[in-house]
Amino acid sequence: MKKSRSTVFFADIAVEKMEKNSTLPAKFGRMLKEFKFADRVKDKQVGIKMHFGGGLGYTTIHPLFVKILVDALKEAGAKKIKIMDNDPASGVVRGYTTEILGCNIVSTFGSTGKYLYKEKIGFKTLDYAEFGGEAADCDFFIDLSHIKGHGDCGFGGALKNIAMGVVPSSTRGKIHRLEGGLDYEEDKCNGCQRCIGSCPNGAILEEKEKKKVRFFYHHCTYCQHCVMVCPKKAIKMSKRKFEDFSKGMALVTAKFLKRFAPENLLFINILTNITIYCDCWNMSTASLVPDIGIVGGSDIVAVETASLDLVKTENLIKQGLPKGRDLLNIKGHLFEKIHGKDPYVMVKELQKCYGGSSSYEMKEVK
Ligand code: SF4
Ligand code: SF4
Repeated sequence: MKKSRSTVFFADIAVEKMEKNSTLPAKFGRMLKEFKFADRVKDKQVGIKMHFGGGLGYTTIHPLFVKILVDALKEAGAKKIKIMDNDPASGVVRGYTTEILGCNIVSTFGSTGKYLYKEKIGFKTLDYAEFGGEAADCDFFIDLSHIKGHGDCGFGGALKNIAMGVVPSSTRGKIHRLEGGLDYEEDKCNGCQRCIGSCPNGAILEEKEKKKVRFFYHHCTYCQHCVMVCPKKAIKMSKRKFEDFSKGMALVTAKFLKRFAPENLLFINILTNITIYCDCWNMSTASLVPDIGIVGGSDIVAVETASLDLVKTENLIKQGLPKGRDLLNIKGHLFEKIHGKDPYVMVKELQKCYGGSSSYEMKEVK
């Protein structure tokens, strides 16, 4: 049977003519017309989920794009528009305010922080997930995400904006407990710290009190240096590495998305300022690749796959890597060569538990 292909729209950042109509914001406005908002959001309550970043971060989505989206929704007759993130106050310094964007900006968990829904997941440490009520109770949900690398699953985009973004810290903690990759037998460890010295990524931390070590899997690229230097053979490679974390992210995302009819969902990925780490690091670094543009559509799997496909290793700007870091000598996506985690795994897991197509037809918005 022929695999069905989903449509994704693409706005290229490259400018053909030196006029404003040829620029990315203008193309984004035309892309939004393709989504036929007048038929889809009229008289509805629309929620836009974003990540506002924090600290000294400046590589989040430019407010101009958010304003263009809000204006398009207003023009289409949306009854109420709200933008959500876990901590609205963190967005003020980056220009995400009601005055600038022209709509309400709310906490995903309501003003009390307790507006939550609980859903069973049943995967290892992830027994259940809680979802922010403001996000769960929209009539129409827009996932507006910034594409960047991520140490735990390779990348962050639409999927991560839900899995880590619409859930409280307690659920995020359960997902993080799925991280792994090394089997560490604490009883065998004599605290010599050779493993700490051997790790090129600072992924092993000293447990001073216990004279033991612990692993920060976000930074681990599974090079196995620690396995080789350990005199007590206290560290071994696990069968599963980052895959459980990626699966947990996908399961949580699928559970949230199933609350909505597919026609009431939209995914927009902004591919500018593509940095090595997530926007929650409270800082920004130089871009890993030149800016690309915007990908949007109704199929999250297709939108995420197309976004990843557009980020190419041959376009790497070395300045985007921290000094001393280089690409791993492995095959795979640029994000895998940086983080040691295949970014497509998480998207494929979502396809398994939610649906969608990794096969897509890309329509360029001129
Ligand atoms: S090298 Fe082995 S014995 Fe030494 S601290 Fe690391 S795990 Fe423990
Ligand atoms: S496998 Fe490599 S990156 Fe991971 S903790 Fe061990 S030495 Fe560090």
